[in-house]
Amino acid sequence: MAKTGMERLKELEKEIYKCIHCKACRFAYSGEPSREGIGEFTGKQGTVLYEGMVDACPAGIEYGWEAFWNAGKIWIARSILSGDLEFTDEVRDVIMPCITCGQCSAQCENKIPTVDIIESLRAALVESGVPMIEKHQLVDRIVKELNNPYGGKADERFKWAKDAGLGKYINNKNAKVGYYVGCTASYRQVEVAIATAKIFEQLGIDFTLIEEEVCCGSPFFRIGAVDTAQMLMRKNLEAFKNLDTVYFSCAGCYRTITIDYPKWMAEDEKLPFKTMHAFELVSKLITEGKIKFKPNKELKGKIVTYHDPCHTGRHFALEMEQSMIKESTNLMFDMREVNKAIDEWFEIPRVILRKLEEDVGIKFTEMYRIKNNSMCCGAGGGVRAGYPEFSLRTASLRCDEANAVKADILTTECPFCWRNLSDANEQYNHGMQVMGVLEMISKYNLLDITSK
Ligand code: SF4
Ligand code: SF4
Repeated sequence: MAKTGMERLKELEKEIYKCIHCKACRFAYSGEPSREGIGEFTGKQGTVLYEGMVDACPAGIEYGWEAFWNAGKIWIARSILSGDLEFTDEVRDVIMPCITCGQCSAQCENKIPTVDIIESLRAALVESGVPMIEKHQLVDRIVKELNNPYGGKADERFKWAKDAGLGKYINNKNAKVGYYVGCTASYRQVEVAIATAKIFEQLGIDFTLIEEEVCCGSPFFRIGAVDTAQMLMRKNLEAFKNLDTVYFSCAGCYRTITIDYPKWMAEDEKLPFKTMHAFELVSKLITEGKIKFKPNKELKGKIVTYHDPCHTGRHFALEMEQSMIKESTNLMFDMREVNKAIDEWFEIPRVILRKLEEDVGIKFTEMYRIKNNSMCCGAGGGVRAGYPEFSLRTASLRCDEANAVKADILTTECPFCWRNLSDANEQYNHGMQVMGVLEMISKYNLLDITSK
């Protein structure tokens, strides 16, 4: 039997009470690139100091009031548990405009799982009968009817594959490897889906696209509509049950199926397949010396920076940290071990970018806030659908960071980040190109396979 939001919140009670309201979680460390001067940059969203500890919670930056920063939300959770506060529309309007980016978790020295707390609080709020905001009600209705939040037709989910000459992979019965495409790459950023599938094809991977694939449920786990999310989870588990490995190109889908599904499945159930993001595969093949890249005149000399999606970056890193601490029997647990594992995790996409620098001639330049300190793109947690202006302003702040290091191309590995950064780039005239890393490899035909 799946747990209710309130039960999950109660399970987190000890963690909630660990919060000492120090508010360290509102800041993040910024200052990766070495440059002269005071590290100030005036971008489309104003002047920001880029060195030292800077304000980092997008919800707090946007709304300013105490309750919107993470510490305020943890206090709300505490007050709900103690009975000092009841769920109301006003509580909803404070806890919903949060991107669940996990910046606060990454900063908290008490290791409080803030995103778990915020998501459980939202689930408990929805269970209590407080109506979701209208925009969330709308996507919830659409996904229940059409299995995706964009309103796309089921038989058009893989239209991109047919149009790109990749139709033979749809329901490819003999394959034991699946590609879970997700709704954003299927119905909106088809460039990402086409690039990923073409790279698999070039690598000689016999993969299948499963026609019964439905939305992974990520937005619904985040906004508290956990019944909807679990209904979608059940459909996907059934559709993909006979596969050995499932690859992803979307950070949100990868996080949801790898981290959320096991938490919401029954205790005796296990994920029936291994999961891996396509960038991990490409990075591994580079490390093994099996692939390299061809030089490219158009890309040579271009400054390329990289945005760590919260879902593949920080969320996996935090999960790694929590499980290493939980599994340890050593009271004097050495956090350097955890930090080493996290560093190695964040290096994976950077292996690809450094190889692109070496072989293709791009200039890979890091932004000020990276890895666990990375600024969110503003799309997640139901914020793009529910609070589009806040969402785009956050994406524009991230684009300012890319402008601050003079990037020509802002890359990422998630179609949802891609969409939001791309929209902000256009709306606020940041003047860059936004591109997926694998999209760049496919678009410029950079892959050079030395052995399969
Ligand atoms: S969540 Fe952690 S960092 Fe934030 S106020 Fe509480 S104890 Fe401090
Ligand atoms: S998850 Fe992100 S937006 Fe939400 S409170 Fe934490 S830092 Fe702020």
